[in-house]
Amino acid sequence: MKLSIDVGGTNLRSEIHMPAEIICEDVSSQENDLIDFIEAKLRTYPSISFIGISFAGQVYKGEILSAPNLRVREPKIKEYFESKYNLKLEIDNDLNCAVRAEAHYFKSDSVLALYVGTGLGSAFMDDGRLVLGAKNQAFEIGHIPYKKTILACGCGKTNCIELYASASGLNKWMKYFNIPKVSLFELENSPDMQSREIAFEFKEALLFAAATLITIANPKIMVLGGGVIKRNPYLLEWLKENLKGQAFSASLDDVEIVMSELQNGAISGAKLLEENKNE
Ligand SMILES: [Zn+2]
Repeated sequence: MKLSIDVGGTNLRSEIHMPAEIICEDVSSQENDLIDFIEAKLRTYPSISFIGISFAGQVYKGEILSAPNLRVREPKIKEYFESKYNLKLEIDNDLNCAVRAEAHYFKSDSVLALYVGTGLGSAFMDDGRLVLGAKNQAFEIGHIPYKKTILACGCGKTNCIELYASASGLNKWMKYFNIPKVSLFELENSPDMQSREIAFEFKEALLFAAATLITIANPKIMVLGGGVIKRNPYLLEWLKENLKGQAFSASLDDVEIVMSELQNGAISGAKLLEENKNE
């Protein structure tokens, strides 16, 4: 029996894979402690032998280094569970998980995943291998320096692009300007100028992130995913149209920009962690 978990900034999704069925659950990641959640599952299903976790934060060798949008009680999560229970646990950053699943789905060895959800994230699989960096932090697009602002990112900086192009960024700006919480589409079509400005800044930042990634990574496929993209699919065509003149043309000419077809790329990738290790 295997347990796959996707810990996002908003939702904690789990799948228990049994020979004949998959049991799915979706709870709040802000109101549920990850350790307690897993231990409850292990009490109900003691034959779980593998746990794969996709985590919205910075992860290195089984340890959570930081999590801009989440609270963490036990950073050394792999060691905690493997020493206490007879099982294997693998955890990786959610985008590293997602790009594994996207590359698997598109059967491609050169895939860049750009997901817009609570945060803004990306990961790159080049020539069939994940580009990891020295401490597994490569392609952390959400926290690149973009524009200094009055708001603070979950990571503590005040210039991250995630402050503009993410659901948490949109929420911070709406709160700052006392605008009732609405969708990106509603912001964009609002009669209120400030609301339209927030949507405009979101799209500019997303375009900047996409153009930067295409220029520096030169992927064959760029896959767009995450909750904000899925709820606003028009962003795909808008990006394709507006990337011209923004991204380096030698890289842009050949990249295929597509929508994720996976229901949840991160959790599909968490399941793949058992066999698809990049070490
Ligand atoms: Zn940040």
